[in-house]
Amino acid sequence: MELIAIGDICSYPGKLKLILSGFHEGALAARGCFKYAKPDEKLRFEFTTTSKAAQERLGIKK
Ligand SMILES: Cc1cc2nc3c(=O)[nH]c(=O)nc-3n(C[C@H](O)[C@H](O)[C@H](O)COP(=O)(O)OP(=O)(O)OC[C@H]3O[C@@H](n4cnc5c(N)ncnc54)[C@H](O)[C@@H]3O)c2cc1C
Repeated sequence: MELIAIGDICSYPGKLKLILSGFHEGALAARGCFKYAKPDEKLRFEFTTTSKAAQERLGIKK
């Protein structure tokens, strides 16, 4: 089992302890978790700015 950490608590070569880094690591962690949660599904990378499906899931009305 892998342990996942994000934010200031984790470190690696080149790590910058910034708010931005934590957000980025959050996105990477979510991507990593997908493999464990849905091993048989392929991740479809989508932007919320352009994906109608993502906007519907989030309840964003245009
Ligand atoms: C003085 C200062 C100025 C900074 N200025 C900037 C800046 O201008 N721009 C920038 O990008 N970054 C800045 N940073 C860095 C930025 O604050 C951190 O990188 C960022 O807050 C890390 O977020 P985090 O969620 O990983 O950790 P944290 O923000 O430290 O959050 C961790 C949380 O976990 C809680 N916690 C700890 N132990 C436990 C426990 N056992 N159970 C439950 N909760 C627990 C803590 O109380 C805390 O609320 C600054 C840092 C400092 C110290």
